[in-house]
This record gives sequence, C-alpha cells and structure tokens, in this order.
Amino acid sequence: MSRPTHIQIDLAAIKHNLQQVKTFAPTSKVIAMVKANAYGHGAAEVSLAIAEQVDMFGVCCLEEALQLREHGIQHSILLIEGCFEASEYKQAIMAGCECVIHSMLQVKELLNLSSVMKLKVWLKVDSGMHRLGLTPHEFIEAYQLLHTSEMIESIQLLSHFSSADDQDKTSALTQLTLLQSLIKTQIAQGHNMPVSLANSAALLTLEQSHYDWVRPGIMLYGISPFRSNMSCPADLQPVMSFTSKVIALRNIEIGESVGYGDAWTAKRRSLIATIAVGYGDGYPRTASSGTPVLVNGQRGELVGRVSMDMICVDVTDLLSVNINDPVELWGKNLAVNEVAEHAGTLGYELVTRMTGRVRRSFIPV
Ligand SMILES: *Cc1c(COP(=O)(O)O)cnc(C)c1O
Repeated sequence: MSRPTHIQIDLAAIKHNLQQVKTFAPTSKVIAMVKANAYGHGAAEVSLAIAEQVDMFGVCCLEEALQLREHGIQHSILLIEGCFEASEYKQAIMAGCECVIHSMLQVKELLNLSSVMKLKVWLKVDSGMHRLGLTPHEFIEAYQLLHTSEMIESIQLLSHFSSADDQDKTSALTQLTLLQSLIKTQIAQGHNMPVSLANSAALLTLEQSHYDWVRPGIMLYGISPFRSNMSCPADLQPVMSFTSKVIALRNIEIGESVGYGDAWTAKRRSLIATIAVGYGDGYPRTASSGTPVLVNGQRGELVGRVSMDMICVDVTDLLSVNINDPVELWGKNLAVNEVAEHAGTLGYELVTRMTGRVRRSFIPV
C-alpha cells in the first residue's frame, strides 16, 4: 500500500501525559478514559501501554470493555453509562466491570436481578449537567436501597462537570458545592464512600475536585481540554500525528479557483499543493480556507473545499515545496485544537472520528 496518508500514535507520549496526571493529582487513583477506541488512538494499544501505571479503565459500554479483555487487560473496567439493558449486568460482572448507575430505572433493574455475584456500582449524580444522573434526593434513596442489597459489593459516588474547561469556574464551583454538601450528608449518616468527579479540565484547574479517583481522557492524548484563549497548565505531548504528502503542485493565475464549487479564488498568482488526505480519512470537511497545514515544516493555508481524498494548500509563501514533501495535518508541530477551531469543532471530535482507511502505526514505549 503506497498512499502516504498515515496516523502515528506515540505511546511514550501517552506515558508522559499520564505522569502529568500524577503530578497534578498525586494522591488520587486514576481511571484512564479509553472510550471510543481511546479517542480514536487505539484502545488496546493505549491501554496496554499504560496498564501498569493506572488503577482502572473507563469505557462507554460493555462491548468496549470486552474488547480490552480480548487484549489481555485485567484491570477493573468502569462502564460510564452502565448497562443498557438488565440482561447485561451478568455479563458485565463476569467481565470484571463496574457499573455506573445513573437512573432509578437502573436501580430497580439491578434489584430485580437474581444474581449471586457481587457488583461494584458508581452512583452518578446529576449535579448540574442535566444529561445523566440521579438527583441528590434520588441518590440518597438509591444508596439506601443498594447498600443493604447482597448483590452490591461497594458503592462510590460519581459526577461530571459541564464547564470545567471554562476560564470562569462559577458553573463548576456550583456543581462542586452541591456535591460537597451531598457527600457531607452521607458522611454524617456514616456512609463514607469514594468519590470521582474530575475530568481532565477539572484535574488541571480545580484541585478541590480531585477526591479519590480522577478520570482523565483528553489530556492523556496530549490535547488541551481548554480553548485556545486559555493556556494549559500541564506539559502535554501530542500523541497522534496525522501526516501525508504533497502529490501535485500547480501555479494558478489571479481569478482562477480551486476545488469543488470554486469556493476559493486566487487574488494573486499562487502556488497550490495538492495533498493526499480528505474527509474520507477523517480530515474535517468543515475546515475553512485558511486552516493551517504544515508542508515541509512550514505553515501553508488550506484553500477551497476539502474533498474526500484530497485537499489543496496555498504554498506560495513557503520557501521550497516539492512533490512528495511531508505534510502534517496535526500532531507534534500543529495542535489538533487549532485545526479544530478552523473547522468549528474540538480536537476531541477530530481524533475520535478518524476513518479506518488511514494507515496506523504505533511508536512503542
Ligand atoms: C469522557 C469522560 C471523561 C474524560 O473527559 P476528558 O474531558 O476527556 O478528560 C471523564 N468522565 C466521564 C464520565 C466521561 O464520559
């Protein structure tokens, strides 16, 4: 196979980023979030690379947990949306999973099971995100129902921030205050339980939220959870490098257009490089003219629409550009968040939605 479009995953960089997790939250245990194929980085490879340094893995569903088991991961695995139907609990327990319980419906389903096996549950509180979770009142009810049940081995509290990545921490602090008061009420009744609240953004900027377990996702992949107007306090190394090559070069005259729909027209005589990458690989079609693309280590600008298999880049101002020159779409020298901003999205989405067509390789630790 010779199409030069390629993703490289630097497993040593993941380990470095995990060290940053430990620097910022030295006393918390770590649930490494590897849902959605480790944000598109390869769940098995990523999990195996960091298995010895993390305490648990977090995935979206049982299918993702089973995939980790197939690759020999032995850690406890947290299903962050729990089970989608009652029949899954038995399989989840047999697969060594712990389950989030986010609704009274799930509590009832669980209590109706006749399993003799023990399940570790994480009661999810809706502290303000209003997407998933028990109200504080339901939490107390659920806790009472479950902590006397023989089926339940342990109960932990989990919640999620809606805006921990904001510079303005008002919303996150409102959520935290509600949770602190709920935790206090529980402790007053003799119910001491482990707590997990922090995603990457809270881990890096809200120390009071660390508690027993932190749940970093995006920072493990070397991507800042913050928007570009906010600096990231951690030293993160990008893990995914998305690269290709120049496959054609042409000069175009003033008034000539490039690509589908003639969406970009030259205002000066321009040198246009065509790159072997497109939305069929995961490069975002919404990336607008002006999106940075590194050609031969220098910044060019995307011009015209992104095609399925190709993009065009204005390289007029670059020093020297030739066919087969290396191109970085994002990676060590161009932050995926910067590209995402030009495409109206986040680095989270871009790395997660790479397609299967792109060749993938791993730099071992
Ligand atoms: C994905 C996820 C995380 C990780 O969030 P990041 O912003 O990627 O650090 C943490 N907790 C839950 C419940 C999640 O779904």
